[in-house]
Amino acid sequence: MKLQDRCALVTGASRGIGRAIALELAMQGADIGISYQNSQAEAEKVCQEIEKLGRKAMAFCGSVAKEGDVQAMFTSFFEAYPQLDILVCNAGITRDAPFGRMTSDNFQEVIQTNLVGTFYCLREASRPMLRQKYGRVVTISSTAGLAGNVGQANYSASKAGIIGLTKSFALEHARRDITANIVSPGLIESSMSEGLSEKNKEKILSMIPKRRLGLAEEVANMVSFLVSEDSGYITGQIFSIDGGLKT
Ligand code: NDP
Repeated sequence: MKLQDRCALVTGASRGIGRAIALELAMQGADIGISYQNSQAEAEKVCQEIEKLGRKAMAFCGSVAKEGDVQAMFTSFFEAYPQLDILVCNAGITRDAPFGRMTSDNFQEVIQTNLVGTFYCLREASRPMLRQKYGRVVTISSTAGLAGNVGQANYSASKAGIIGLTKSFALEHARRDITANIVSPGLIESSMSEGLSEKNKEKILSMIPKRRLGLAEEVANMVSFLVSEDSGYITGQIFSIDGGLKT
């Protein structure tokens, strides 16, 4: 197992891609802390699934968009786990609208959750990882962050921001065996993609050479590699998982 006895924190892991990442890392031998905002029952179920794999699991409730919640989450994590080897910043939201109808609240909510939330988590991870001279960080961006997307100015900006943020983290931490990479999924089957209209989904499918949506497990496999020892010389890079979509 590639991650035997590593300790990992995965944000937004009560469902979707985060859940798949948490389970894959547990399958590879890591103990996992998961975060969620509302879905307590789902989060508890993920913890039970991790425990069935023979690994320790704990769920932390709070919003990554709130500085105090993130600080509390890291404090609780360090009370329960001896170190933080792996951080996966996955929690994210959409609030889509065309430019002319996008409210400032919708714009700011998405930036605050996706980008500022990721910043809060990376900042909390920085000192402990520097101290232990080891760390593997993965952030989740999106095709929209690379290419933009109609109706997603807020989301695209937040996901583009995550790329600069992660690359800066990678540069600042590289000398202490800490890597930070970005995974950029295309359209993945999850509750987030279920929100798309059929028309929109068909249009996107026609642009994907693989002609299907991606699976959360396919994203999890890439993350699992990037947080392992095997990827120690890879940092500050973007990995697209998008069925060949041109960006
Ligand atoms: P889901 O909507 O299925 O799940 C989102 C997860 O994030 C949930 O666990 C949710 O918790 C959590 N979350 C949301 N807001 C917060 C918050 N403020 N604080 C803490 N946790 C929060 O999303 P996906 O699995 O589809 O997406 C996961 C990531 O992948 C996101 O960053 C998304 O932008 C990105 N992505 C997804 C794509 C897709 O096609 N699905 C494509 C490209 C990127 P709760 O259940 O409690 O609400």
